[in-house]
Amino acid sequence: MSALIFDLGGTFLRAAVVDGEQRITHVHKSRIPSVATGCTRDAIWETIASRIVNYERTYGNLAERPSPMVIAFPAPVTDYCHAHQAATVAGNSKEHAGIASLLEARTGRPVLLLNDVSAAAWRVAEITPYRRFLVVTVSSGIGSKMFIRESGVVDDVPFGGEIGHVVVDHSPSAPGCDCGSRGHLGAVASGRAVERLARRRALTDPLAFQSSQLVAKYCATPEWLTNEQHLVPAILNGDSWAFEILRTATVPLAQVLLLIAVAAGLDRVFLMGGFAQAIGPLYLQLLRTLAKQSSRFDLAEIHIDAMFDFAPSSETICLEGCLSFLRQARRLGLSDRLCKRDVRSVPVIAGA
Ligand SMILES: [Zn+2]
Repeated sequence: MSALIFDLGGTFLRAAVVDGEQRITHVHKSRIPSVATGCTRDAIWETIASRIVNYERTYGNLAERPSPMVIAFPAPVTDYCHAHQAATVAGNSKEHAGIASLLEARTGRPVLLLNDVSAAAWRVAEITPYRRFLVVTVSSGIGSKMFIRESGVVDDVPFGGEIGHVVVDHSPSAPGCDCGSRGHLGAVASGRAVERLARRRALTDPLAFQSSQLVAKYCATPEWLTNEQHLVPAILNGDSWAFEILRTATVPLAQVLLLIAVAAGLDRVFLMGGFAQAIGPLYLQLLRTLAKQSSRFDLAEIHIDAMFDFAPSSETICLEGCLSFLRQARRLGLSDRLCKRDVRSVPVIAGA
C-alpha cells in the first residue's frame, strides 16, 4: 500500500511518500502564501495545487499509480472530496471547492480529502487503546472529531465535530466568529478569542491591566498584545490578570466538552492545538477544574481527571493520520463509501 500524503494547514503545506512498506519518507514542508501578505485567494489555491502537483511529479515514482493522494484538509469534508469552507487558509471563500477534481485531472491519481482533525483522530486511534474518544483542537479556532472503535471517525456529515460553531454567548455584545456569526464557542474560547478578550479587558479596565505582568514584565499595550509574546508567558509566570482572562474564556469550552463526554460515554477527551499546547499542563488542569464545577455529579466527576488529557502529538500527526486512515479504512469497511465518491469512482484503497 503506497500513497502520497499531504497536510495543508493555515501556514504550512507538508508532503510525504508512503512507501510499499508503509513507511513515511521524503517529508517536505513549505510555507504557503496568505491574504495577509497581499496574495489573492485564487493565487493561494493555485500555489497550493501547483506544489502538490510538483511533489507528485518529483516523487510519484515512489508510489506508483493508481495509489492515491490523501490530503489532510483544514475544513469540514464530506464524501472524502467536498471541502466546506477553509477559512484558516484563505478566508471564507469558495475557491477551494473543486480542488480534489482539479488535482485528479492534473495528476491522474485518485484524490481523497480528509479533515485534518479526523486525520489526527485516526492516528490517535492507532496508538491508544480507547474505544470512544474525542479529539479537540484549540488553536486559532476550535474543532473536534469523535472516534468510535467499531466504526471509525464520525465525520460523514459536514457539521460533525464543528463544536467551534455553536452559540455559547447569546448576549448582544457576543464576540464575532471568523465564520461571520456571533457568540460561537470558537469566538469565545479559542486562542484567537482569548487574545481578543485580553485586548478588550485591557481597554475597559486599564488600571488592572497596568498592574499586570503583561505591562510590567512583557511591555504589552491594548493595541499590541499577542498570545505568544505577552498573554501566554504571563499565564505561565503566574499572572492573575492573565489567568482570569483564560479562565473566563474557557468556562463554556469545559461545559461543552463535559456534555459531549457524558452524552457519548467517552473514555477520553484528547486536547491538541497550538494554544492549548503552549499553556500545557496548566491548561489541562484548568479544563478539569472547570469541568468538575460544571458536573457536581459523582458518577461523572470521579472520571474527569483521567478523562481530559493531551493527545499524543507531533508536528507530523496529520501526515501520520493519513496513513492510519488508509490502513484502517478497509478494516472498517469504508472501501465502499470511498468508491461511491462522486468526483470519480476509483478503487482508491485496493490492496490496502
Ligand atoms: Zn463560527
